[in-house]
Amino acid sequence: MKPSLLPKLLCLALLPLSLTAPAQEAPAPATTPAEPEYVPLEQLRSFYKLMPQASQKGYTGTRTVGNTGTALTFGPGKKELSIGGYRWLLTHPVKEDGTGDLLISKVDMVKLIDPVLRPTYISDRRLVRTVVIDPGHGGYDTGIVSDYVREDDFALQLAAELKELLSKRGYKVVLTHAHNRHLSDQQRIATANEADAPIFLSLHLNSGRSDIHGIETYTAVPAAPGEPLRPANKHDAANAALAFALHSAMVNSTGARDGACRRARYSLLNSIDCPAAMILAGYATNKTEGSRLATAEYRHQLAEAITRGVSTFALAINPDATLEPAPEAEPEPPRPVKADPPKPAPTKSKTTAKPTKRKPQKAPRRNKNKRRR
Ligand SMILES: [Zn+2]
Repeated sequence: MKPSLLPKLLCLALLPLSLTAPAQEAPAPATTPAEPEYVPLEQLRSFYKLMPQASQKGYTGTRTVGNTGTALTFGPGKKELSIGGYRWLLTHPVKEDGTGDLLISKVDMVKLIDPVLRPTYISDRRLVRTVVIDPGHGGYDTGIVSDYVREDDFALQLAAELKELLSKRGYKVVLTHAHNRHLSDQQRIATANEADAPIFLSLHLNSGRSDIHGIETYTAVPAAPGEPLRPANKHDAANAALAFALHSAMVNSTGARDGACRRARYSLLNSIDCPAAMILAGYATNKTEGSRLATAEYRHQLAEAITRGVSTFALAINPDATLEPAPEAEPEPPRPVKADPPKPAPTKSKTTAKPTKRKPQKAPRRNKNKRRR
């Protein structure tokens, strides 16, 4: 068990954010969003009591701070963060302050780093009773259909596996549909809104160039200062903790390429009034990954990882929860939202997916829909 990184008396509201002024720039048009506020990395490190760590070979200029299992790696100019070896695309790029320190945007610190490091400080946290699982697409909308796998079939099959595994852990599981039915976003959202204390998981595949592969996990974009709040923005912190728990569990378990946790303005994610994530479990258009995704064995592996991610999130935000475990479930102590042990140091290789010798099941072909999501 890993205790929270800070004494309980501290709270985020007391964080002494002596923000560094952004560099002087030419006057911007009135419609340009305000320059984001930034926090020095050294201040972040000190606040969370993280230790400086040696940067990894080949990552010139990066700074790594952290403790065992919670190392954060930042690179100047990069819009990306590594947490415990897992990728997250930031809302704003990391900057240099001219004195050797790095600057992290306040929104990334408050809406991403803090909820992952201190899940018990998430303001809207509550006991997770229900998991609403939304198999993407359905009916006439098949989603992506490649030579290897079909998205609507995959999503329904994964949802059925998840329902069984999560039910064994004591969660009530609600599917938005189970019979390949077409639903509008509003119908999917209504199912979540009617559920008791839910989290919402939408299941999809990805598509792209044939050499691209990997798992991507999406959640809603945090509201910018002055921007009207969408329903999802009530859960910005919980969204980050949930997405990270799911993503790290899936990447760790499957060995698939880490396509990063990401923010997206999908109307479905923006309009849900509960912690929610959209899982793009792999690229249907990649021969190796698409073939893996079509196998029952790989779907089961993914379902087990997602179940572990849900459980990690639920226990991280409510360490005293008594909902689980079911008799056969493995006991998991409450801890920061870090589902699995850190992976080996990342490499620059673009082909990190484990090779598979399984014989792929050919999916029936209907059309070549390359649409994402
Ligand atoms: Zn989709």
